[in-house]
Amino acid sequence: MTTLKKVTGVHGPGANYWVGDGFPVRNLFPSNGIQNQEVSPFLMFDYAGPTVFKPSNQSPGVGEHPHRGFETVTIAYQGSVAHRDSAGNSGVIYPGDVQWMTAASGVVHEEFHEADFARNGGIFEMVQLWVNLPKAYKMTAPRYQAITKEQIPVVEFGTGGQARVIAGELKGSKGAALTFTPINLFDVTLKAGEKVTLPVPDGHNTLVMLRKGNISLNGSAKLENEAKIATLAPSGDAVEIEASEDSTLLILSGEPIHEPIASQGPFVMNTHDEIIQAMVDYRAGRMGRLS
Ligand code: MN
Repeated sequence: MTTLKKVTGVHGPGANYWVGDGFPVRNLFPSNGIQNQEVSPFLMFDYAGPTVFKPSNQSPGVGEHPHRGFETVTIAYQGSVAHRDSAGNSGVIYPGDVQWMTAASGVVHEEFHEADFARNGGIFEMVQLWVNLPKAYKMTAPRYQAITKEQIPVVEFGTGGQARVIAGELKGSKGAALTFTPINLFDVTLKAGEKVTLPVPDGHNTLVMLRKGNISLNGSAKLENEAKIATLAPSGDAVEIEASEDSTLLILSGEPIHEPIASQGPFVMNTHDEIIQAMVDYRAGRMGRLS
């Protein structure tokens, strides 16, 4: 028997801002008042673009900065991001690719529009999600997963739509990303008129984010136009989604982490003292440096 998860809220962005000069984002939480307990293990959701960038010989973006205590997940939709970090990783996140970076004890990195994309200009669209780590993993070694479009399993619904299983599991397909706590991340496309019921584990905080289109959840709550997010209760084991026009969305679910959060800028720890220590360690070069 399927029990639909109750929709507890539908929100638009709470703030618009630029991250560096390359990422014009609409923040879908926490700036709109969504509480961490509703979204844990997720911490933050930035939706960049879609925005047209003019051709430029300078790649916009954000220069050297640290992270500690959590993971950054970058999903590229349009345009490409070049990055490099203090652990020696570098590469380009192309449309359809996902970068799952575990900062854990500390990473210093930079994120810029890839040079060819910047020179040609065009539409830029991506998501950056911050995923919390349990206390037990916050000070472990950084990890980096460069996941290409080809590595992400696709589940066809048989009615025109599909889900790319970035993390977790859907209808027997295992996601491409390794995670520290149970997480599902599905990148979904639905055709106009299509209705699907997707399984989501009981106990998981659950979010449905509409990039573009028009959908209703469980026959009632509506997400329209673009950049909306719905929170769903942990209890229940499915969500029913009906699209009244062609729609693109992201489904996020995860087992909540019931631990205190102390957060400042790029550091997310459990106590204020650990935040101070993170600042000291960063300044002392203990998170490494970009060469
Ligand atoms: Mn960063």
